[in-house]
Amino acid sequence: MTNQELVDRDLEVLWHPCTQMKDTRNLPPVPMRRGEGVWLEDFEGNRYIDAVSSWWVNIFGHANPDINAAVKRQLDTIEHVMLAGFTHEPAVELAERLVGVTPPGLDKVFYSDNGSAAVEVALKMSFHYWRNTGHGEKTRFINLTNSYHGETLGALAVGDVSLYKKTYEPLLLKPLTARSPDCFHREPGVSWAEHSRACFAEMEALLAEHADQTCAVIVEPLLQCAGHMRMYDPVYLELLREACSRYNVHLIADEIATGFGRTGTMFACEQAGPSGITPDFMCLSKGITAGYLPLSVTLTSDRVYDAFYDDYENLTAFLHSHSYTGNPLACAAAIATLDQFEQRGQVEANRALAARMRIATAPLVDHPNVAEVRQTGMVLAIEMVADKATGTPFDWRERRGLQVYRHGLTREALLRPLGDTIYFMPPYVITPEQIDHLATVAAEGIDRAVST
Ligand SMILES: *Cc1c(COP(=O)(O)O)cnc(C)c1O
Repeated sequence: MTNQELVDRDLEVLWHPCTQMKDTRNLPPVPMRRGEGVWLEDFEGNRYIDAVSSWWVNIFGHANPDINAAVKRQLDTIEHVMLAGFTHEPAVELAERLVGVTPPGLDKVFYSDNGSAAVEVALKMSFHYWRNTGHGEKTRFINLTNSYHGETLGALAVGDVSLYKKTYEPLLLKPLTARSPDCFHREPGVSWAEHSRACFAEMEALLAEHADQTCAVIVEPLLQCAGHMRMYDPVYLELLREACSRYNVHLIADEIATGFGRTGTMFACEQAGPSGITPDFMCLSKGITAGYLPLSVTLTSDRVYDAFYDDYENLTAFLHSHSYTGNPLACAAAIATLDQFEQRGQVEANRALAARMRIATAPLVDHPNVAEVRQTGMVLAIEMVADKATGTPFDWRERRGLQVYRHGLTREALLRPLGDTIYFMPPYVITPEQIDHLATVAAEGIDRAVST
């Protein structure tokens, strides 16, 4: 099989996600034959460092021997059994371990099979909790500008990236939207903490006016990934937790992208306040199986769980389900992933890798077409702009980020920018030298992209 043969067969039958298929005439999908560690390899032996962790899911490398072994063991035991009326060891053990590693007070685990579904579960559970406790008037949600929570209609509705949302607007629930604490837009001389704190006034005002009708506030803690890797200060989460409690509104932390060590702590919520915050719901997916199999969870408190616990005839149960809820193979991969964190002391080890990403990209800080190099833990983003002084972006139709992507492919780097935001979100098994290489390739790519 050659690269071209597989591409030809692909384009006959496949419709790819998040893709204008006409683009494939100039930019066909890259056919991947195998993976090992940070490397992906095509059918002709070309290799690429997976700098974006295959859409933020792969944290311990491709074909990781320990996770492979765990999935193979599970495969010979039981591949799947429904979780309504049945149970199995991987689902129980994983739930116990997740309760153990997530913030205190998250005591119950509800499984589903992708991030959007975990968000749908949190939205429905929150609404249903208020209904079960005599507050049927609470029907609304508050979100942030530039937020992203998935693509199914409920999750899309509480997101705010217009590229994905605008077309479907007539079909969607209408959230109340507060300004994101995103620090890219702060005034010169203003710290992240000052800026994020100031942005909270708008959230406070929305809560003051609408708390009676509001089920929950949903946020991505510290990092709005799909919204071009925009970042904010933990003080916002601390203020938000306090306000949600004061106004009797749930807090949903969508840690689908930020969870599992991405932001410098196991979960981003840990960085808020002196000892972290506990949301009422936490959604996890992506890194949960280290990129092996689709799995997600919605964690919540015993308090929420108890509001559904009643005689069947009262019809208060949460009757949501998916066919592959708590799939044993996926749970086994997730348990092996948590083992990897423990064995490698990975959260600690990531400090050195994060520092290397900062050092390697330091020369880009003064680049005339780079507005900002920003970082939260194991995510580093470079904002390419037309004018540094004013922060004016390039015309999006010029698609300059795509040129950086193309350049990367010629230099063993799979960088997949979000518009003109180039970012590194690598697997944690990346080496310091590989980080240096990615920084070199990104700098070359930016120079090319801005000079045309
Ligand atoms: C990716 C993502 C989702 C959606 O997860 P899917 O598995 O793609 O449905 C939701 N929220 C955040 C923050 C994400 O990054």
